[in-house]
Amino acid sequence: MTHLTDLEFDLQHIWHPYTSMTKPLPTFKVKKAFGATIELEDGRQLIDGMSSWWCAIHGYNHPELNQAVTDQLQNMSHIMFGGFTHEPAIELGKLLLQITPPSLDKIFYADSGSVAVEVALKMAVQFWSAQGNLQKTNFVTPRSGYHGDTWNAMSVCDPVTGMHQIFGSSLPNRIFVPAPQVGFYDEWNQADITELAQTLAEHHQTIAGLILEPIVQGAGGMRFYHPEYLRQAKLLCKKYKILLIFDEIATGFGRTGKLFAWEHAQVEPDIMCIGKGLTGGYMTLSATLTTKEVAEMISQGEAGVFMHGPTFMANPLACAVALKSTQLLVSQDWQANIQRIEQQLSAYLQALSSLEYVNDVRILGAIGVVELNFNVDMKSLQQEFVRRGIWIRPFGKLVYVMPPYIITENELNFLLQQLVEVVEQMELVA
Ligand SMILES: *Cc1c(COP(=O)(O)O)cnc(C)c1O
Repeated sequence: MTHLTDLEFDLQHIWHPYTSMTKPLPTFKVKKAFGATIELEDGRQLIDGMSSWWCAIHGYNHPELNQAVTDQLQNMSHIMFGGFTHEPAIELGKLLLQITPPSLDKIFYADSGSVAVEVALKMAVQFWSAQGNLQKTNFVTPRSGYHGDTWNAMSVCDPVTGMHQIFGSSLPNRIFVPAPQVGFYDEWNQADITELAQTLAEHHQTIAGLILEPIVQGAGGMRFYHPEYLRQAKLLCKKYKILLIFDEIATGFGRTGKLFAWEHAQVEPDIMCIGKGLTGGYMTLSATLTTKEVAEMISQGEAGVFMHGPTFMANPLACAVALKSTQLLVSQDWQANIQRIEQQLSAYLQALSSLEYVNDVRILGAIGVVELNFNVDMKSLQQEFVRRGIWIRPFGKLVYVMPPYIITENELNFLLQQLVEVVEQMELVA
C-alpha cells in the first residue's frame, strides 16, 4: 500500500454516515473536544452547534462524566445482563422512572436509538399477539418522521425523504398519514387530525401501534407541531385500541424546553423510546419504557417473555455515565438555561425570516431552525462554517443549531453571529 496520509486513508477506506465511497464529502480530523469547543488536528477551534447530533448536552470532556466512567471502569466495564444485574442499571432505572410519564413502569435497555425503536415495535406486536390477536401487526405514522436506520425503524421514516425508494419492497408496508400541519405556536385546527382519524377508522384492525415523535419531528424535517395533535391522537388510539408509541430519542432530556416533549401536551404514551442525550453523548445507550399493562400482557402470552436481548444490554459503563448525566441535568436549573438559549436563538435568527430566500425560521427550546427555499450545498457551506470557527451541519433546506446546554452566552453569540452572516450572504452562494 502506498503511503497515505490519515485523511487519505479515511477517505479511501472508512465509511461515514450517508456518504459515498467514491465521492466522499471531506471530513475534518478532530483532536479533542472540551466544553462547547471542538479542536481540530491543525489546532483550529470550532464552537459546537450540533451537540454531536443532539447527544452532548453537557458538552465534551465533562469532568463529572469523565469521573463516572473512570469510577465504573474500576469495577467492570461490562457484564452480561442475562442472569446478572448491577447498580448502574438499577440506579439509572429509578431515576428514569421518576422523570418519564408516570404510567411508564418497565424499562428495556438497548444499545442505540434505532434498536430502541425496533424494541418498541416488537413490544406492540407481542402485546396484541399475546392476547390472541394476530392481525394487529402493522403501524401507522405521520409523514416527515424519522425513527432510525435499522429495517423496521426505516419502514416508519418518511417515505419520501427516508429510504423507501432505495429499499423498495424489501421494506414492510406501513400506513402513512400527513405530517401535522398546525405549528407549535399556531391556533389549533381540528382538520389537522382528520386523516389520522379516517385512517384509524378504516385500518385499526391491522394496526398494532401509532409511532411518532412528540412535538418535534427531527431528522425528517425539523418541524414543530401543535400539542393538541397528541391529545387527539391519544383519544383516537384509545377508541380504536392502538398502542401509542412516542419516540423521544431526539426530544428528550430538555431539548424542547421540557424534560421530555410529551409534557407539552400532558399526554402519556404506552411505549416510549429514549436515547441520544441519555448518556450526555458519552456512549451509545437507549431505552424503551412501557406500562405495567403492556409488560404484563406480553409476559402472559404464549412466548411468556419479551423476545429481545442485546449482547451489550444495560452496559454498565453506559448506564453509569447516563446516570451521572441525567443527575447533572435535573440537579440544576436547566429550564432557565434552556430559556436563555432559546432567547438568544430568537434574538439572532428571527430577523433572517425577512430574507426572500428564507422560507421559515422556527425556535423551540434549544433548537433553532432556518429553513431555506432551496437545498444547500452541504460541502461548501460546511467548509465556510469551519473557516469561521463554528460547527454546523446543514441538511436539505435546513440550517439548524442545537448547541450543548453548557454553551456560554459569548460562545453562542459568536456561533449565531457567524451563522447569520453566512445565511445573509447566501444569495451569492445559491
Ligand atoms: C437519532 C434518532 C433515532 C435513531 O437513533 P440511533 O441512535 O441513531 O440509532 C431514532 N429516532 C429519533 C427521533 C432520532 O432522532
